[in-house]
Amino acid sequence: MIHIKTPEELAKMREAGRIVALAHDAVRTSIRAGMTSRELNAICERVITEAGATPSFKGLYGFPAAACISINDLLVHGIPDDTVLKEGDIVSVDFGACFEGYHGDSAWTYAVGEISEADRRLLQVSEQALFEGLKYARAGNRLTDISHAIGEYVFAHGCSIPRDYTGHGVGREVHEDPAVPNFGPAGHGVLLKPGMTIAVEPMVIAGRPQTRTLKDGWGVVTRDGSRTAHFEHTVAIANDGYEILTTLKKEEHPENG
Ligand code: MG
Ligand code: MG
Repeated sequence: MIHIKTPEELAKMREAGRIVALAHDAVRTSIRAGMTSRELNAICERVITEAGATPSFKGLYGFPAAACISINDLLVHGIPDDTVLKEGDIVSVDFGACFEGYHGDSAWTYAVGEISEADRRLLQVSEQALFEGLKYARAGNRLTDISHAIGEYVFAHGCSIPRDYTGHGVGREVHEDPAVPNFGPAGHGVLLKPGMTIAVEPMVIAGRPQTRTLKDGWGVVTRDGSRTAHFEHTVAIANDGYEILTTLKKEEHPENG
């Protein structure tokens, strides 16, 4: 069942989203070669708790940390550990914050120092794929109008999308209905309505789409070892477009398609 949020609920989600964005800001300014993914996780957790929220992922389905930190060929769900970040790594940092019972969820892929031209392109394509999808996030469109736009953009740029991972509704739970696929035909799924809140999150692979799960039961890596990127925002659907909730800047309703 899809829960339409009231204005009061949206206000709490805005604050949850702002806290997520604050923590991403801290990651962006502190990430560097020589630090461990565990240290990066600690930064996320500290910012979230100091802002009066709780880390949404910690304990969710038994996940042991505040943030999923996935380096290079690790696509999603990397457990923070003593892995030392190196110059040239691309690091996906995915986490949520819960404020007064409402969650925000956002992922971003960061470059450690100078990265290769191919990785720079992968990051650009993946980030833009998120915004290509969001052009269709508005009341009156169908859910998979977003999915289709993401898929078409990624495939047109020669990258692939894993089959088994999607975006999702978000609010009172981190994962709510509906699932938000990252590819497929347009015109299907629920009719988007004002007050729906969804996490749109293209996961993009430079090579082939097949993945496997690591022995820790969490980390998901590409089978061909190719690199990956992940960009996610929590947004609220509005009559005339969408509002990004996981941001510090309040540019509401950018151009829509
Ligand atoms: Mg996420
Ligand atoms: Mg998510």
